Amino acid sequence: MRWSQQSALDPAVTGTAATGTVAAGIDAPPAELFGVTGLVRSVQTPEFAGVTFHEVLAKSALNKVPAASSMPFTWTINPYRGCSHACVYCFARNTHRYLDLDPGQDFDRQVIVKVNTPEVLAAEVAKPKWSRELVALGTNTDPYQRAEGRYSLMPGIITALAEHGTPMSVLTKGTLLRRDLPLLARAKEDVDVEISMSIAVYDDALQQTIEPGTPTTTARLATVRSAANLGFKVTVFLMPVMPKLTDSMDHLDTALRAIREAGASRVVYGALHLRPGAREWFFAWLEHEHPELLPRYRRMYAKSSYASKEYRAWLSRRINPLIDAYDLRGATDDDYPMTKRGDRTRLGAASSTAAQAASLTPPPQEALF
Ligand code: SF4
Repeated sequence: MRWSQQSALDPAVTGTAATGTVAAGIDAPPAELFGVTGLVRSVQTPEFAGVTFHEVLAKSALNKVPAASSMPFTWTINPYRGCSHACVYCFARNTHRYLDLDPGQDFDRQVIVKVNTPEVLAAEVAKPKWSRELVALGTNTDPYQRAEGRYSLMPGIITALAEHGTPMSVLTKGTLLRRDLPLLARAKEDVDVEISMSIAVYDDALQQTIEPGTPTTTARLATVRSAANLGFKVTVFLMPVMPKLTDSMDHLDTALRAIREAGASRVVYGALHLRPGAREWFFAWLEHEHPELLPRYRRMYAKSSYASKEYRAWLSRRINPLIDAYDLRGATDDDYPMTKRGDRTRLGAASSTAAQAASLTPPPQEALF
């Protein structure tokens, strides 16, 4: 039995009993379980075994980031809530609680799909008052998760933004991105388009257990190569770096060499960040897969969602020379000309985060999906 199956049977781990009740079958809207308006239907298909898509009609597509946020962008679009990529450490897990769903297996298997996102967005960006500031995609959940193969929302989103002079950044783990690279390249002729690929684990066995729904590292690196061949300066997010799992010199060196060889222009890294929701799920995974590490992690994340200052300083000393050695710093003036929030109309979100990473203090994972 896989650890996640075992955990799903344990209410102490999953938190709620929503799983199983929600998966009510084709066209059976479980409206009573959601604080969601606009629910059209819930769908299960053989191609996505174990996953239920809840199709909703969204009232808006653009989300404004609160002014108090430290995020270096003002607007985001998240066409999906929940993510079948199922990364154990995913910081967005807790957002499923707002839907009366649990942040563990429900997050992986109960995916909300805002099916009208392209149409709603097209109307929003056509308004004369639209500011044409950069829009960040992939800041909460992955826009190229497997559901995108079924719903194809991204082509309409990219087209709407480009047609209305709106720069965009895309951050993903999904190799489905390749489908849209020609479209993104065309968009780049009119607006700034920033592409970032998240690749944290360069050990196939570990990758398959800690990111069980994601494409392989090799496939993601190949996607980086495809984007680079089309002229994109691709950023790779080497995060989260996980203590004693992915922070050895061997692993970091293997990672940075592979990223360099794939044609990426720069790397952003950060130590594991464990918010409530993700923390319980990660600890359950750790207990099953690496019980010897559990006491160490409990100590490190006892008082904070962030890795300790000492660990982050240690990681900085270890990784920064490697980033320089592989020429992946990417902090040229051309890459990061503006860092203030008000200057973001032509600056990719990932670029800003990369600019932070170029400093000696590595950023936490919070800017990521
Ligand atoms: S970390 Fe990203 S890709 Fe992984 S489950 Fe979360 S949203 Fe999906």
